[in-house]
Amino acid sequence: MPTIDEIIEYLTRRKEKILVEDFENAEKKELLEISVEEKYKQELSSKKIKTGTLLDDLIGGGLEPKSRLLLYGEYGSGKTQTCFTIAVLCPDHVIYIDTEGSFKATRIKQICDARGIDYKAVFKKIHLFQPKSWIEQMLILDKLPSPADIEDGKIGLIILDSLSKHFRGIEFAGRQSLSIKQPLIRECIGRLERIADAYNCALILTTQIYESPTANPFLPDWTGQKAVGGASLEHQPDYVVFLRKAQGNVRIARLMDASWQPQRERPFMITEKGIEDLPETKKAEKIIKKTEKFERQFYEMKKEKEN
Ligand code: ATP
Ligand code: MG
Repeated sequence: MPTIDEIIEYLTRRKEKILVEDFENAEKKELLEISVEEKYKQELSSKKIKTGTLLDDLIGGGLEPKSRLLLYGEYGSGKTQTCFTIAVLCPDHVIYIDTEGSFKATRIKQICDARGIDYKAVFKKIHLFQPKSWIEQMLILDKLPSPADIEDGKIGLIILDSLSKHFRGIEFAGRQSLSIKQPLIRECIGRLERIADAYNCALILTTQIYESPTANPFLPDWTGQKAVGGASLEHQPDYVVFLRKAQGNVRIARLMDASWQPQRERPFMITEKGIEDLPETKKAEKIIKKTEKFERQFYEMKKEKEN
C-alpha cells in the first residue's frame, strides 16, 4: 500500500509530465481556425457506434468518434450489459478495461450467438484488461494497445467499467481522502480522454451511485441517486445517462446531461441478445408517456421549490 506522500509524489510527477507533453504538442501544432461547415459535414458523415436500441436516441443516434458517454446507475441497472452489447456491435477494435471482474466471455459469446455474429471475430477484436487495484488501473493506461499495434489498425471504442470501483476501498474512506481521490479519478478520465482523442475513438465510462442525503422525499427514490465521482465527473462527458430498474428485465435510460440535447428517457430490456428494445411498441410507448408525464411534474416541482 503506498503512503499518502507517495501518492502525492506520483500525482506531481504525472502533472509535470502532462504539462511538458501538452506544451510540446501544442507548440508543434498549427492552431488553425476550424471551418464550421467542414465540421458539420464531418459530424454528418462520421461512423456511429450503436446499441441498436432506443437508447441510441439519447446519444445522438450512436456514439461518434471522440464522443464520451458516462453510464451510471445502481447494481443490476444494466451498465455492464450495455457495455457488452456496444462492444459486440462496434465494427472496430475495442479496448475493454474491466475493474469489477464482471467481464464474462461466455456472456459475450451468448450475445453473439443470439445475434448471429461470429463470436471468434468478436473475441479477437476485444482487448481486455482487468486491473485489480486503483494502482493497476492507473498503470494500465500506459500499456493500452494503440492502432499501430493492431492488425487492421482501427480502435473504435474504449470502455472503462467501472471508473469508481477501486476508489471505494478503505484507503479512500472518509472525507479527508477526497482531495486525493478526486484528482486521481480526474487523472484517470483525463488520460483516457487523451487516448480516445489520439485514437479518434469513442469512450464509455461507467460508475456506481450513492444516495444523496438531500434527496426530496416527495420524489421517487431514484432521483436521489448520484454518480460516484462527483459533480465534476458529470460535467465532463458529452452524454451522461442514468440507468434504473423498471419491471423485470426492463430498464429505463435517462439522458441527464448533454450539451446539445434535451433531457429524456428511453426504455430497453436485458435479454440473451444483451440489451434490446421492448418487443411491444405499445408497452414502450406507455413507459415513455409515463416518464414524460413525470418529467413535467418533476420540473414543476423544481420550479415551485426555486420560487
Ligand atoms: P453493477 O453495478 O453491479 O456492476 P450493472 O449495472 O453493471 O451492475 P448489469 O450487470 O449490466 O448491471 O446487469 C445485470 C442484470 O442483467 C441482472 O438483472 C441480470 O439478471 C441481467 N442479465 C445478466 N445476464 C443476462 C442474460 N444472459 N440474460 C438475461 N439477463 C441477464
Ligand atoms: Mg457492472
